[in-house]
Amino acid sequence: MCPLNVRVRGIIFCAVLLLVSIIAFPENAGAVGIKIFVDGKQISTDVEPYIDSNNRTMVPLRFVSESLGAKVDWTHGEKEILITKDAVQIKLFLGKAVMERNGKEIKIDTAPVLKNSRAMVPLRFVSERLGCNVNWDDVQKAVYISSKVCKASSEEKDADKENSGSDGGTSEIKRGYVTGSIVNIRSGPGTNYSIVGQVRQGAPLVVYDEKDGWYRVSTTTGIKGWIAGWLVSLSGDSSRGSGGGGDRDDIPTGNTDNTTAAIVIVGSANIRSGPSTSYPVTATCCKGEEVLILGEQDGWFRVRKESIEGFISKGIVAVKQSPKKVYPTPLNGRIIVIDPGHGSVKSGGLVDPGAVGPSGLKEKDVVLIIAQRAGEILSSKGATVIYTRTDDTYMGLSQRAELANNYGADVFVSIHCNASLSTEVQGTSTYYYVSLSMTQDKIDARRKLAALVQEELVKELGRKNLGLKEGNFLVLRNTTMPSILVETAFISNPTEERLLADPSFCRRAGEAIARGIIRYFETES
Ligand SMILES: [Zn+2]
Repeated sequence: MCPLNVRVRGIIFCAVLLLVSIIAFPENAGAVGIKIFVDGKQISTDVEPYIDSNNRTMVPLRFVSESLGAKVDWTHGEKEILITKDAVQIKLFLGKAVMERNGKEIKIDTAPVLKNSRAMVPLRFVSERLGCNVNWDDVQKAVYISSKVCKASSEEKDADKENSGSDGGTSEIKRGYVTGSIVNIRSGPGTNYSIVGQVRQGAPLVVYDEKDGWYRVSTTTGIKGWIAGWLVSLSGDSSRGSGGGGDRDDIPTGNTDNTTAAIVIVGSANIRSGPSTSYPVTATCCKGEEVLILGEQDGWFRVRKESIEGFISKGIVAVKQSPKKVYPTPLNGRIIVIDPGHGSVKSGGLVDPGAVGPSGLKEKDVVLIIAQRAGEILSSKGATVIYTRTDDTYMGLSQRAELANNYGADVFVSIHCNASLSTEVQGTSTYYYVSLSMTQDKIDARRKLAALVQEELVKELGRKNLGLKEGNFLVLRNTTMPSILVETAFISNPTEERLLADPSFCRRAGEAIARGIIRYFETES
């Protein structure tokens, strides 16, 4: 990249620099051991970054081209560096504390230099002018660069549309899962196309198109491209619907085979080096992006993104459990969103405990137990389960529905307890939503899901069967896939409140809901 005369000049330049540094550099200048992360990945540079006399982190120019994906050219007898990325063009001048961005001059407080015949440039100035976010963690002596710009909302809507075709009406879109252990996704239908991402065995796919034995797919992590058809099993391939009770019982119910991830539900979300907003940002995630959950601390999830471990606020993520292996059941590759109603922690205090029973039992606590048991069973049988909450953290109603739509969920189940002004009223009911614009297939699917879950609940809990009801709830109205809202029992009725206060009753309710959902997939036509 650097012609010979630059090297020669560099030696002279360096000699001068060395002299200057001996005389003028403060003691901490040139400190080594600076870590640089780009989008969560730690970057090692062939020339050690250092902090110059102006307290600026300097990196080799090659970092800019290789890690920030910019094009680098030398002009004017190797005195000027031209950096181009997308619509941005930056000009740097060796030895001058000034730069140009798209022709506009900007003063900077330190100059690019040659060091050991390598051009060193100020990291922050260059990265920020290229549109990246740069954060410095003084404790870790680390620079965190986020090169990502989260999609604008209008683009986002288009992407959502493509991801959410899961209803009966869209017959061209198929579903499947990856059968190879790690499989490339490419920009076109053949191995001669570039790799745009990778998926692991068992990862669910939405399949839009087929060409030359390759499928055009999107993944739940937002990767879009082509995958070799022979490494994918389409959902219709296996004999779904023939799964009897026998093989179901062979499957372990433990959850040790799951990975737990946090899905970002807001436009962009920060990962920080500690569990509060006072810690520096170490990475940025866009809506729909997933990070691995490692633990919890002070209302934050401890997560891993690439090589960075950090913290993300619970209020801006949903929790996803996915099985690591492929299960020979109708639930394999299915995405089920489980929505425990209400939830009371939002910055500022109590938001929505739901209904409260005569003795003070809160709906939000009851439905969480039910939801977790249902999710546990479904994920142990091969489904990917996404929870709108796993603790008291509240999620907005439209966010809950949007999460399911964005994720291309197969079903959405909202879990509640009923309440009435009359303490006499009791029983179990299940709601679904239909509209005039819905196709008959869609209506049938919703009604069928509701009927199966209601049947299992009444059978298991033995409460009065109040039947199926149509309800215009936001979470049902806004979800594009079959969705239901379960009213397990009346928390306002003293007898049923006592039952709901018993965790084993709640777990049985969760098991019944799971059985209804399993039957729905087993008998899916
Ligand atoms: Zn409720």
